[in-house]
Amino acid sequence: MSFPIDQIRKEFPILHQEVHGKPLIYFDNAATTQKPKSVIEALEGYYLHDNANIHRGAHALADRSTRYYEETRVAVQEFIRAKEPEEIIFTKGTTESINLVAYTFGRKFIQAGDEIIISTLEHHSNIVPWQMLCEEKGANLKVIPINEAGEILFEEFEKLLSPKTKLVSIVHASNALGTINPVKEIIAAAHQVGAKVLLDGAQSSSHLEIDVQDLDCDFFAFSAHKLYGPTGLGVLYGKREVLEAMPPFQGGGEMIKEVSFEKTTYNEIPFKFEAGTPNIGDVIAFKHALEFIGSYGKKAIKAHEDELLAYANELLLPVKGFNPVGTAEKKVSVLSFNINGMHPFDVGVMLDAKGIAVRTGHHCTQPLMKRLGLEGTVRASFAVYNSKSEIEKLAEGVTQLARIKNK
Ligand code: PMP
Repeated sequence: MSFPIDQIRKEFPILHQEVHGKPLIYFDNAATTQKPKSVIEALEGYYLHDNANIHRGAHALADRSTRYYEETRVAVQEFIRAKEPEEIIFTKGTTESINLVAYTFGRKFIQAGDEIIISTLEHHSNIVPWQMLCEEKGANLKVIPINEAGEILFEEFEKLLSPKTKLVSIVHASNALGTINPVKEIIAAAHQVGAKVLLDGAQSSSHLEIDVQDLDCDFFAFSAHKLYGPTGLGVLYGKREVLEAMPPFQGGGEMIKEVSFEKTTYNEIPFKFEAGTPNIGDVIAFKHALEFIGSYGKKAIKAHEDELLAYANELLLPVKGFNPVGTAEKKVSVLSFNINGMHPFDVGVMLDAKGIAVRTGHHCTQPLMKRLGLEGTVRASFAVYNSKSEIEKLAEGVTQLARIKNK
């Protein structure tokens, strides 16, 4: 059966508009995806009918809101195949999830002289929190090198591992290049020396089937907005025993069991890590994003996106002056490239004039760009609602630009 692209596109009202007099082609999905009607309606429905604070109300609206909020927790648990819903913590996004681990796990378990390993491929949000922690604690940050194709050098990673390694925090799929890292092998090797592993799943969660129990990662962080869900919402998965050993993140309501001026006791997980009134409406709407993905299935979505990527490569690789950046294999649907003789930003502006939205620049991966000797790239990233005819328009636009500079 062919992929029901027309039906899917009908679910995304935002796609049906013109920019600069041209039909919008949205290829900035790695930055954020668009939202289906079901998510937007769920958000509206919550504020029209259900709005109440959760967990402590004695009235119908509070009960309803609490039930819907907790239903999303279970949906997320199933989405990443966690063992229990208590292992799912709602945060503001991947960034906050990583910072939560740095702040709580890091403060308690990382000491002077300990080592944290990341890779050259990391997003700034998986670099800076660890630098801050290392500076505070006198710990050391080690970086796994990559090859020219943007792939991790596994044997170099193995050399970095030692009993001093307390945490390996690694991106599952690179936002800048699309590279899928060999995370299962990384996790197994890290566990051999007793280190915990955090996976940055900001990009992988929308493209790959995630099974945190099979991966055996200790933490998995991702953002709802890259998964057809609302902005300002993310998830931190953690193994129960690891979360229970960690001190709380922020102090306030919800996260306590009992408060007195002499002594405060903390709530059980996940509430211990969800201080204050959470982002209730967005959490409730997020369940509909997961249902949207589930209704087509990750496998079918990935196959569709892979087909788009292969088609883009087929059309663009022969074009003189077109320079793909990063691996061509084992990647999610991210096409990172440059055009010889053109600044990435200029390419972005010229494609925008044709209605094509791409991202340009360093993609919050400045150390990676430096390693590759690039100022930045143009990034076209594909999602469930993109079509082959849109790929043809992109190829046409890029080819025209490449021809001007590469006669
Ligand atoms: N890691 C990766 C790989 C990302 O792509 C992003 C978002 N660009 C983040 C972390 C940060 O996610 P957020 O801004 O939603 O917190």
